[in-house]
This record gives sequence, C-alpha cells and structure tokens, in this order.
Amino acid sequence: MPRIDERLQAVTGLAARFQSAVLPHFINGRPAPGVSGATFESLSPIDNSPIGSVDAGSAADIDLACQAAANAFDEWKAMAGGERRRILRKIADAIEANAKEIALIESWDCGQPLKFMSKAAIRGAENFRFFADRAPSARDGLSLPAEQHVNFTQRQPIGPIAVITPWNTPFMLSTWKIAPALAAGCTVVHKPAEWSPYTAMLLAEIAHDAGLPPGVLNCVQGLGGQAGRMLTEHPAIKAVAFIGESLTGRRIIKQGADTLKRVHLELGGKNPVIVFADADLERALDAVVFMIFSLNGERCTSSSRLLIEKSIERRFIDRLIERVSRLKVGNPLDPDTEIGPLIHPEHHEKVCGFFKYAIEDGADIVAGGSPIEGPGNYVQPTVIAGASNRMRIARQEIFGPVLTVIPFAGEDEALRIANETEYGLAGYIWSSDAGRAHRMAQGLDVGMVWVNSENNRHLPSPFGGMKASGIGRDGGDYSFEFYMETKNICVAFDRHRIPRMGAGS
Ligand code: NAD
Repeated sequence: MPRIDERLQAVTGLAARFQSAVLPHFINGRPAPGVSGATFESLSPIDNSPIGSVDAGSAADIDLACQAAANAFDEWKAMAGGERRRILRKIADAIEANAKEIALIESWDCGQPLKFMSKAAIRGAENFRFFADRAPSARDGLSLPAEQHVNFTQRQPIGPIAVITPWNTPFMLSTWKIAPALAAGCTVVHKPAEWSPYTAMLLAEIAHDAGLPPGVLNCVQGLGGQAGRMLTEHPAIKAVAFIGESLTGRRIIKQGADTLKRVHLELGGKNPVIVFADADLERALDAVVFMIFSLNGERCTSSSRLLIEKSIERRFIDRLIERVSRLKVGNPLDPDTEIGPLIHPEHHEKVCGFFKYAIEDGADIVAGGSPIEGPGNYVQPTVIAGASNRMRIARQEIFGPVLTVIPFAGEDEALRIANETEYGLAGYIWSSDAGRAHRMAQGLDVGMVWVNSENNRHLPSPFGGMKASGIGRDGGDYSFEFYMETKNICVAFDRHRIPRMGAGS
C-alpha cells in the first residue's frame, strides 16, 4: 500500500494539469472553453487551497451543449441496443482502468476518504456495465391483446436529458444517472456541482475516448443558480434527472414548468435507524457507526437519527462513544483515514452550527461537538444524546458526521418518531423479531427499508424517496421508466365494426 506522501505526489502531478489551464466544458466531443470567459475557483477541502479555475457556464455555453445533445440524439437513439451495449461496456472498462486516478481526484476535490472513493470509482464502472447489459432490452414492452385488436407497448428514449449532480460522491452518483440515460438511447448534458467539478470532466473524456459519439455526453460547468437554472429551462432538454437538496428540487420543478419538463428528484433525508433491545447489538452498532460516519456523513442515506429502545439506551450509547472516539479523522488521501474534511468552509460552518443548536435546544453532546482547528474543514465525529424529535438536530438535514440519538419505548412510539419528519428516503430496522421487523417496515413512510443491514445496494432494486426526499425511482427497469416514453400501438384484426358516419342509413 503506497504511503500518503506518494499519494500526495500523484495528486501534485494531477494538480499541474488543473492549475495550468481553466477547466473547460466538454461539448460535442471536445473540451470547450467558456464563451463569456467568466470563471470560479475550486478549493480542496484538505486545506482550502485553490485547485484551479473553472469555466462558469453562460447562456451561450448551455445553448451549445443542449444543441449538441439535440443534434446527436437521432443517431444515438437509432443505434442498435447491442452496439450501445458495446460502447457502454468499453466506458465501464475505461473507468475501471482509471479508477485510481478518479479516486485520487475525488478525494482531493471533495475531502472524502480515499478508502471509500476507491470503491465508489469501481461502483461507477459497475453502474455502466449493469445498464450496458440492459440496453438491448430497454425498448421492450408488453403485449396486451383485446377481442378485436392487439395492443402492444414499446418504449423509446425521451430525448436529451439534463443530469444535475451534487458534490457528495459526485463521480459515482453521476454514473448512476448518466449510464441508464445513455443505455435508454438518450443524450445527456451533465452539470456537476460547483464545489466538485473535476471528475465530471474525466468521465466525459473517458466516455469519448471509449467511442461514445460526439454530442452524446456533454458536460457544462457552472453555478447552480445560473448554469443549472438555464439548463433546466432549455427547450431542447426533455427531462431533468436531479440529485441534491429538497429546496433545489422544488426550484427545479418551477424552472422546468414552462417547458413541461419531466423531473426525477433524489433529494435530502433524515433517516431513522431503529434499534430494538432484541437486536444483534454488535452488528447494529457496526451498522449505526458505518451509516452515519462513512463518507464524512455527507450521504443522503446516512442514518442520522438513532432511535434506541430505552432499556438499552445507556449501554448502547456507551459503546457508541467508545467507537466514535477511535474514528480516525485526517487527510483523506491517507489510506487509514476514516473521516476527511467537509466539502467547503460554508458547509463546515453549517454543520458546526448544529453543535450550538444542540446545546440551545437542551440536548447533550456526548462525543465530539467541535470543529478541529487548523487548515481544512475538519470536524469531530459527534454524538448528541438526550434529543427529542422536535429539536433542530432531529428535524434538519445536517449532512455531516453528527448522530442524533432519540430514545423510545415500544413499536408505536418508534414508528411515530421515525415518520414525524418532512423527509422519507430510507429507514433501518434492527430487531431479531421477524414479525416486528415486518410491521415496522410496513409502517415506515420511506422509499427504502433495510432490516438488520446497512445500506446494501442491489442495482435492479428501486432507489428513491417519498415526501420531501424525492420523486421517482432509479435502478434496473425503474430508471428506463424515467428516461423513456411508453408508446401503445393498437392493431385491428380487421373484423370489428367501424361506425360509418356520413354513409347514409
Ligand atoms: P444542491 O441542491 O445545493 O446542489 C445540487 C446541484 O444542483 C449542484 O450541481 C448545483 O449547482 C445545482 N443547482 C443548485 N441550484 C440550482 C437551480 N436553481 N437550478 C438547477 N440546478 C441547481 O445540493 P448539494 O448541496 O450539492 O448536495 C447535497 C444534497 O444532495 C443533500 O441534501 C443530499 O441529501 C442530497 N443528495 C440526495 C441523494 C439521494 O439519492 N436522495 C444522493 C446524494 C445527495
């Protein structure tokens, strides 16, 4: 395993590339410098030093990218599914071949520990391979025979798609949207988050070098309220696949209203993990710690509210504190680091603000609870006990390594607390009583429930949330439902009577 300084050297090599030129857009198969010349600066959360300048997409850039996607659509849509599969598999292979570089850049740009980003890059390749293999059957529909007709459905790609992604695990998340869109036969304009612009460019380059025709995948850099907004308003774009905050999701629906955009929204969460006294508490402890402290807690499916049965509250919290105090916070490029710096000084300030809220609202910080001094956006992994579901730490998405612990007595109370939130993304249940686990799973108002498990992904299964956590599902055929239109074709057997208007009596 190379040591951290070798990793830093590798990053220094990459730094030279990014610092020597402004990061451009990628339009119609090649890098495209911004038309307006406006740029913004990208910082590394490791020490908030500048990584480089990035083109800030203007109306002219967005228009060029959307036109490129519109022009490439007919040919890509008409390509045989088997051929699309071949190209997408080549992209998957190329991602795998470049996984080390992708992980390094992602860690450096986002502050996520390299140990998690290495896996995320490989998962990006898996996303491409999974949807590549489904490209030939994406159009398949149903046969719906009637007495005098046969009806059958088939699907066709909806058109150019805007994919707008956030800064947490940006590479993997973008492949989760882009791979099924391309497999369905859609073309894409991707806008990554302004706080994590780099790996989107790598993906566009990798895909192009692997044989994706020009214009099929375009990437525009820029600020959400400008480039993002213009993209969601552009008439050439037929649907918006969005991952980000619930507030931005609401804006996107409004922005897309005039052009009647189809929208798919994967939004925030305040996910409960409910631990009953009869659970396998060792495994539950592992999962609780993993699901809030991995990926710096900057994870939509993080189990940010621990609902713990009162009879085991003290014992479980003591074990939790022990584990949390041993978590290794540090440079994300260090292979041993478990928690890296938060993405940006603004986000760091937001997360640290919740320590103050916890105290003001009467909760008890039992582990961590402070920023870590020095350069970079580091924060202590934190456990806040004695909380009630009314407190701000229990209601608002913190999106950092901060766990809020709320005690409960009995199933009914656990369910009430779990559902008493505007969000509805995921829920985790820990119990050895199968009946109770089923009852709780039925009762939770969330899109995904895991029983006696951490968030374990299965690509054909639906992924998405209810309530303020989103609209729509990804995964397997659910993704194609979004990226494709269903067409019904009705053919007569030529025997039924057609009303003869104007033919006399
Ligand atoms: P964000 O909503 O601030 O930004 C996401 C993207 O939207 C960025 O690319 C941004 O530039 C763009 N954007 C911002 N305003 C826009 C506008 N008006 N029009 C168009 N685009 C606009 O979110 P974030 O802070 O980057 O990401 C964190 C959020 O993402 C959290 O709430 C998290 O829960 C959520 N998230 C959800 C999932 C999920 O699967 N449900 C997965 C990952 C992250």
